[in-house]
Amino acid sequence: MSATIISGVEIAKAIREELKGEVAELKEKHGIVPGLVTILVGSDPGSVSYVTAKGKTAHALGLYSEQIDLPAETDEEELLGLIDKYNKDDKIHGILVQLPLPKHINEGRVLYAIDPNKDVDGFHPVNVGKMVLGEQCFLPCTPHGILEMLTRSGIETSGKEVVILGRSNIVGKPMANLMLQKRPAGNATITLCHTRTKDTDFHTKRADILIAAVGVPNLVKADQVKDGVVIIDVGVNRIGMSKSGKAILAGDVEFDSVKEKASFITPVPGGVGPMTITMLMKNTVQSAKQVAGLL
Ligand code: NAP
Repeated sequence: MSATIISGVEIAKAIREELKGEVAELKEKHGIVPGLVTILVGSDPGSVSYVTAKGKTAHALGLYSEQIDLPAETDEEELLGLIDKYNKDDKIHGILVQLPLPKHINEGRVLYAIDPNKDVDGFHPVNVGKMVLGEQCFLPCTPHGILEMLTRSGIETSGKEVVILGRSNIVGKPMANLMLQKRPAGNATITLCHTRTKDTDFHTKRADILIAAVGVPNLVKADQVKDGVVIIDVGVNRIGMSKSGKAILAGDVEFDSVKEKASFITPVPGGVGPMTITMLMKNTVQSAKQVAGLL
């Protein structure tokens, strides 16, 4: 048996089409254009390409977008001042500060400074708290995208054993929280593994759904999973460079061997990655709808 490939590219495309319609309707009926500002400090190549992709996607969907590129030596006060300006700017419904920030800037202070009503990354403690309580809020983009992938692929999560590898604040922890909520793509029994987990294989082998977000290339092998498992591979690991200078990527799961045992699997690239940016756009449109009193 070879797994069905869950294409993040295709699912993201479908969601983007839906969003285009919503953006056009907001403009026509309510005179509102959802606006997103992305703020990049420094020139880390990965961050530059993420921010560029976000700007391009926003533009393609008909959003208003601004991209602010600041030098690496920008001081914290200047960045906080800029956030304050966008917090007050009615054209802007979403503020994204690309992480990681240079070491001299306190990431927590910066994220806390963003108006929770414009926190389309879903990292502000107000949104994190609401997410844990199951209230309406901006959901963090990567886990939110994974919920959409599961739902749109018709994968049942209720009562399933979901094992998550990795406990980061942006993927593992929110993923665990969302999948235990009483909601679609929720109602699962969750196990969260990390580097102190005693016997990770014991857990991965009994997973109905395995979500890997560790950042270790090809960590999960076929002998660590059961037949029929659903694999969501969040890892994006640069393992080399092609002759044309393009990064060669690998996930956290050994795709070729594991796909022979799995029922569904996400590829890297083309799996979770395209969903993350799409959910950022969805959150920005949600923010504009909230301002318009439509939610
Ligand atoms: P992170 O902050 O570096 O956290 C990694 C987590 O994995 C930590 O909790 C760590 O445990 C755990 N871990 C490391 N080795 C492990 C092992 N052998 N067994 C079990 N757990 C282990 O990572 P992240 O930011 O969540 O990102 C994880 C991966 O996802 C990276 O490859 C990243 O590039 C990718 N990513 C992709 C997207 C996307 O849109 N596709 C979005 C975000 C992240 P400890 O806590 O004990 O150290």
